[in-house]
Amino acid sequence: MPRKKLIAGNWKMYMLAESARDLARTVVQGVPPSETVEVALCVPFPWLVTVAEVLKGTHVALGAQNVNAAKEGAYTGEVSAGMLLDVGCKYVIIAHSERRHGLREPDYQLNLKVRSALAAGLMVIYCIGETLVEREAKQTEEILDWHLVTGLHKVPAAQMANLVIAYEPVWAIGTGKVATTEQAQSAHLHIRNQVAQLFTPEIAQSLIIQYGGSVKADNAAELLSQPDIDGALVGGASLKGELFLPIVKAAQ
Ligand code: PEP
Repeated sequence: MPRKKLIAGNWKMYMLAESARDLARTVVQGVPPSETVEVALCVPFPWLVTVAEVLKGTHVALGAQNVNAAKEGAYTGEVSAGMLLDVGCKYVIIAHSERRHGLREPDYQLNLKVRSALAAGLMVIYCIGETLVEREAKQTEEILDWHLVTGLHKVPAAQMANLVIAYEPVWAIGTGKVATTEQAQSAHLHIRNQVAQLFTPEIAQSLIIQYGGSVKADNAAELLSQPDIDGALVGGASLKGELFLPIVKAAQ
């Protein structure tokens, strides 16, 4: 079966309630229901309820940008997978480089988050990718392997259908520098081959691997035409309907 494409907007720490509601409405109205393209909005915690109300019963899915690995407990300021499900989330982003590198979230913790979010029933968008220094040192594949081995450690094969990988070269996130289609396709193919080795070729074949890093309307179609690029994780261009909707269109 051909893989679906997943276009997910990552709103990061932008927007207040009214603009969040307006943008969610614009996306719902502008995205036609599709068998082949799924659209998700990963919004800040305070707007999950607000956006959930807009997305309820529509074909646009709700996502969060972080989750704690614990089921519940004395974790001030944290949010559990159960809470995200309860508010209507389907997806959660884990290990975005702004957390992996920016907030120095360690590999073991990211792995615990991946495993507990999957076990709870969320779809996980697990981000991996090299920094500029690592790319220039020709360590891209080594870093991708490390992120895969550590992040997917002890993930049950049966739960891999609920996991999406986002390949996000750190040097391309929010910088306006986009990976060439060759660089992106080659990284995606490498990731798929590694997942085939870590799990099975069948799991690797059905795995959705998104590209993230300065995706815009004018580069989306070419990136998404590559055989191993199954969607996009979109930051800056997901904050305005007129920028995000053409990316969704390019996937269709
Ligand atoms: C992201 O937030 O994951 C991202 C890729 O951001 P941008 O599209 O702005 O580069």
